[in-house]
Amino acid sequence: MEQYDRIKKEHPNELLFFRLGDFFEMFNEDAKEASRLLGITLTSRFKGDRAVPMAGVPHHSVRTYIARLLKAGKRIAVCEQLEEAEEAEGLVDRGVVRIITPGTLTELDLLDEKNYNYLLALLVDGQNAGLAWLDLSTGKFEIEDISKNELTDELARLQAAECLVPESQADSCRSLVQSARGGASSAVTPLPDWTFERNNALKRLTQHFNTANLDGFGCGDAGLSLSAAGAALEYLHDTQKTELAHITCITPFRRANLLVVDRTSAAALEIAETMRTGQREGSLLWVLDRCVTPMGSRLLRDWTTCPLSKVEDIVYRQNGVVALVRDGGARAAMQKTLKGTNDLERLAAKVGAGRANPRDILAIGQSLARIQPLSDITGRIRTKEPEKPETGEAETPVPRFHRSTILADVAGQLELCGELERLKTNILKAVADAPPIPIKEGGIFREGYDAELDGLRSIGRDGKKWLATFQADEIKRTGIPSLKIGYNQVFGYYIEVTNVHGEKIPSDYIRKQTLKNAERYVTPQLKDYETQVLTADERARKKEYELFVHLREEVARYIPALQKIAHAAAMLDVLTSLAAVAAEYGYCRPELNDSTLIEIHDGRHPVLERVLTERFVPNDVRVDASGDRILVITGPNMAGKSTYVRQVALLVLMAQTGSFVPARSARIGVVDRIFARVGASDEIMRGSSTFMVEMSETANILNNATARSLIILDEIGRGTSTFDGVSIAWAVAEYIHDRVGARTFFATHYHELTDLARVLPGVKNYQVAVREWGDGVVFLRKIVEGGTDKSYGIHVARLAGVPREVVESAKEILARLESEKLDVADMPLMASTAKKKSSPAALQKSLFGHPLPEAEAVCEALRKVEPDKLTPLEALARLADLKNTLKK
Ligand code: ADP
Ligand code: MG
Repeated sequence: MEQYDRIKKEHPNELLFFRLGDFFEMFNEDAKEASRLLGITLTSRFKGDRAVPMAGVPHHSVRTYIARLLKAGKRIAVCEQLEEAEEAEGLVDRGVVRIITPGTLTELDLLDEKNYNYLLALLVDGQNAGLAWLDLSTGKFEIEDISKNELTDELARLQAAECLVPESQADSCRSLVQSARGGASSAVTPLPDWTFERNNALKRLTQHFNTANLDGFGCGDAGLSLSAAGAALEYLHDTQKTELAHITCITPFRRANLLVVDRTSAAALEIAETMRTGQREGSLLWVLDRCVTPMGSRLLRDWTTCPLSKVEDIVYRQNGVVALVRDGGARAAMQKTLKGTNDLERLAAKVGAGRANPRDILAIGQSLARIQPLSDITGRIRTKEPEKPETGEAETPVPRFHRSTILADVAGQLELCGELERLKTNILKAVADAPPIPIKEGGIFREGYDAELDGLRSIGRDGKKWLATFQADEIKRTGIPSLKIGYNQVFGYYIEVTNVHGEKIPSDYIRKQTLKNAERYVTPQLKDYETQVLTADERARKKEYELFVHLREEVARYIPALQKIAHAAAMLDVLTSLAAVAAEYGYCRPELNDSTLIEIHDGRHPVLERVLTERFVPNDVRVDASGDRILVITGPNMAGKSTYVRQVALLVLMAQTGSFVPARSARIGVVDRIFARVGASDEIMRGSSTFMVEMSETANILNNATARSLIILDEIGRGTSTFDGVSIAWAVAEYIHDRVGARTFFATHYHELTDLARVLPGVKNYQVAVREWGDGVVFLRKIVEGGTDKSYGIHVARLAGVPREVVESAKEILARLESEKLDVADMPLMASTAKKKSSPAALQKSLFGHPLPEAEAVCEALRKVEPDKLTPLEALARLADLKNTLKK
């Protein structure tokens, strides 16, 4: 316990898993907490006054327990026995070999294979902020300097598993991180301020990369982010206590060439998960991700959350997709081959952290065996332009650039250098087909790999033969037919003779153990043999361990090459996935250019068209920043407004990712940012979402959008009263029209907004066509020019099964409003000029201005009531009175 206390003192913030034989034990408060979180029994060590609370888990199933503690936001210090119990003199030496935190996982089974698991370091100074994020399980390491007000969006984009912050900023950073994660908890780990100190950081980084400075990585002029990077590396050194050989470079993240999609927009467009359920199913990635490797899925997620904004970059990717769309055979072959490449990226990282087990090494060997076939397939894909465009492709010419195609580049990266070829052969020759995970128990290597190992193993194997012969000889010598040789842990090998034959025991038998019906003996010859066999086994296991460590070290020397190949495979996976989706669903290749025009024919919503049971109705789009730049889309509830405006944003995003798009043809002037906002009452996802949030997001758009941006506003202004809502929506539209000039889609059920087109030249009205049919309406889902002047809300209410009585009553009220010419349609012009203040009051009066006398009486009675002075009985009587009055 002294040893325990000493070690625990160094790890006050972690649960200490203390290895005792086959168990990891926890004591005191740790034990109580773990027993509560894991539902394991709380016992105690020692009795009486000295009793110490204790809880333990078996070492072989420790991973599942660790996984659960990490989910609960805990950190774990793993304290191992540092020497074999037999070899120890006195107390076994113990020490912490690793600290496991949410942001420092490398275990494949604890990680989500489709996502990065970032450890993020954050430093704020005045209006500037520096970020560094690192995925230990792949070695990806990036930094970014931004302004403080961009921080929430970046934090939300990265969704780090753990955030490192300087101690002195812990509180402010914690709330920042919290809000960026939408209230979801995230581990925030404060570090001493000096870890973020610039000189210190620089020293740490250059030491790690073994360079004089960071210019070679393009990070020479990095600001606060450099300090953050240093802190992250420092933290890894402290917690991992291993090599970090797979962290081979650090890259500045540059947003200038990217299409920035902020957090709220990404959520509204349901790129990676749906708003309602937070699940992948129903999101854009759910449709687009046909990747067959985890690294492909991760890369595709990167591509869709950070699309490109330079035409040349986009076309470069597109060319790869085009080639694979045309060549169905290559696509199939590619996916079949890629399936065998495993998660090479994370496997390489495990090697780098010195944690790869025999199965990991075998998986690397098997992955490497797929590289040559992949390279062959890539090389064979025809990249020539066909004579005439094929079906499913836009007929617009494709801009060409003097630059090798993406497939040629990838093929180049795949060229196995001779050394990797040798490594592959070596691994496959060495490691057995289904090796065990532990590295000290033997069974890892194939026969014929190492002569010494083979020799040791054959002693053990031949031993069996020897034992059989020995048994036969002894039976003959003693004349005891039931004599047999056995083995147990305590006595080793023995000869067992039943008591019936007691008399025939030869004199050289040495008695070892007496059983009920038998005696057990040994002979010097048997003991001799035993020593030989046991030491051979022991020596074979030791030899295997040495060989394995050696092999792993050899693999570690190729980490940068493995990473390069993993990236190339991921790239092929993504291109093939995009091509497979494009081919199967009949997407077209969008034409990208630097204009400000977006023109789409027969566009479809990529997700909705997959889940809808009835036919999806395609629609056209034309919006131009230098012409009709604000489209107001009106129509009744459920007509298809939201679908249409999101579809536009999704198609633009897909196009700029390099993907084909669901449309007959599309021409897209690239956008620099996409803003998508859903009005407060439409945003079902978060309870916290209020009108206030909606307005601050609107403010953010108005402040940050440019003439090259795309803005989608779906029912904004809906979280407040009609008059407020229409007025705000109107003013926002005016501002975007006059000051921002961005291409904007305004979906609204306020048909009053159609009047905007009368006063602003760049505004054009569209509506979702609806046909009145008898007493009801039929949604045609077609977007046509012009504005609606009706909401059809009552029809929708009827369709939804609102009681007939309510529907009829609503119709009467509507008729009255209309006949009194107090339609809200007068509103917008009024809001725009903000003069005729009397009008809203007049409207309210018309609805509520003829109060019923009975209602008045009830109100009056209520005003007079003094609840404090009433008995319960009197209160009930009063209530009955009120009700009677109303009944009249
Ligand atoms: P709104 O925003 O006008 O209230 P939505 O865009 O939410 O309407 O659409 C309501 C429903 O109409 C969708 O869930 C979908 O089932 C259907 N819908 C919308 N657009 C189409 C379309 N183009 N083709 C077929 N069905 C559609
Ligand atoms: Mg809607």
